[in-house]
Amino acid sequence: MKPLGLPARLTLLNLAIFALLLAVTFIASYVIFKSQLESDLNNDLSDRVEALRAYLKFENNIPGLKYDTDDPEAARFVQNATRYFQISNMTTGEIVTQSPEMELLGLTFVPAELQVIDQQTGPTDFQTSSGDVRFLDARITSPSGEPYLVQVGASLDPLQVALKRFNELGLVLIPAVLVLAAIAGRFLAGKSMAPMRRLAHAAHEIEPSNLTGRLPLAGSGDEIDQLAAAFNEVLGRVEKVVGELRQLSGSIAHELRTPLAALRGGAEIALLHAGSVDEVKEVLSSQLEEFDKLARTIDQLLTLARAESGGIQFRLVPFDLGIMVSDVLETFSLLATAREISLEYTSGKILLATVDPQWMENVLINLLDNAIKYTPPGGHVSIQGTLEMDAVRIDICDTGVGIPPEAIPYIFDRFYRADPSRNKEVAGAGLGLSFVKWIVEKHGGTVHVSSEINRGSTFTIRLPRAETAG
Ligand code: ADP
Repeated sequence: MKPLGLPARLTLLNLAIFALLLAVTFIASYVIFKSQLESDLNNDLSDRVEALRAYLKFENNIPGLKYDTDDPEAARFVQNATRYFQISNMTTGEIVTQSPEMELLGLTFVPAELQVIDQQTGPTDFQTSSGDVRFLDARITSPSGEPYLVQVGASLDPLQVALKRFNELGLVLIPAVLVLAAIAGRFLAGKSMAPMRRLAHAAHEIEPSNLTGRLPLAGSGDEIDQLAAAFNEVLGRVEKVVGELRQLSGSIAHELRTPLAALRGGAEIALLHAGSVDEVKEVLSSQLEEFDKLARTIDQLLTLARAESGGIQFRLVPFDLGIMVSDVLETFSLLATAREISLEYTSGKILLATVDPQWMENVLINLLDNAIKYTPPGGHVSIQGTLEMDAVRIDICDTGVGIPPEAIPYIFDRFYRADPSRNKEVAGAGLGLSFVKWIVEKHGGTVHVSSEINRGSTFTIRLPRAETAG
């Protein structure tokens, strides 16, 4: 069975709450109405008993109603008040006075019953052939000391009829109101869901191949608008990441194709033209460099993937970058000599920064490698370390080919290489500087470049200073 939609569920919930509230209101009204009717009836009975007492006179020690029959008001009152009326001798049980309607009811009591009735504080209800009748009683004593019980009654019929009407009204009104509430609730729930349906429709229209679409905003700033805005924001981020990934996969394919084509070409030549084992060996050894380059690019890509997925944790410690620079310079000294480039380091100070030494060494290696790579023989590479207020600053300057101004904004992008034709034999994968930027920024630092074509470049990194102990 298909589950109920949100509007139907909301309508049902609303209806259940409404029905419960209606039932509680109805029961409370019934109880209040009933108690009001009863209290009115009891007050009326007690007023009548009190008023009738004034008309009770004893004649020969027998009580009876005596009033001026010429007084129309007294006559009307007594007639109305004594519809159900009787006076009984409490000792003998004998009825001494009785209204005609009371006589028809045939309510007679033995002395013991009269005692019990007398002892009750409130009124007493009796079921009779003419329906339920409520009696209020009062005891009077004759001059000779004989006790008599005066009983004045009123039919409960009007009260019961009023309550029955009230119930009937409830039975008709409550279902009618519930039906109206269900219709109104369903209409409102459907109406409030309409913007959601529009959003869902618009969201369906957005294809993974084209993430430029956005959900429409009504501009009201309500919850639906907030939801759409949040969705659009997420979509924007997804679009950016997907765009980057597409660009990256395109670049990766491009990067791998060239060395693979070169390797394939080498293998083909070896197969078709190499006559001796030595010739094959020669081809294979020339291919080793390409394999190395491929392996390096793949290594970098793997690190990049780990970095992207947040799988890399930095272990930050206070470390003297001066020592690190000296060590890195030493590893590059042979290469620099071979390329006739002089290396120089000036600082002399302790450059204590909060870094992950392994990753930071990678930064220096990349920057120094570039400086040597892009500096022609006879050039000069110098590193300078300085302490600033909050940062340790390292400048790596070379007197190399420089970077064209239009390329500067892109050199930190992945796979970007400024005019590789400038230096074909040293072309890398274009990933080095993107790593440098990523690592430095992960340390809370910055990296900048200033360069002049054919005069050289200076890369400046700033890293947070470590607190010196003591
Ligand atoms: P690559 O592997 O090509 O060196 P990088 O990301 O390290 O990749 O550098 C990106 C580009 O920036 C390089 O291709 C080069 O054109 C330019 N570049 C980087 N460092 C220097 C430098 N010291 N002198 C001149 N150009 C540089």
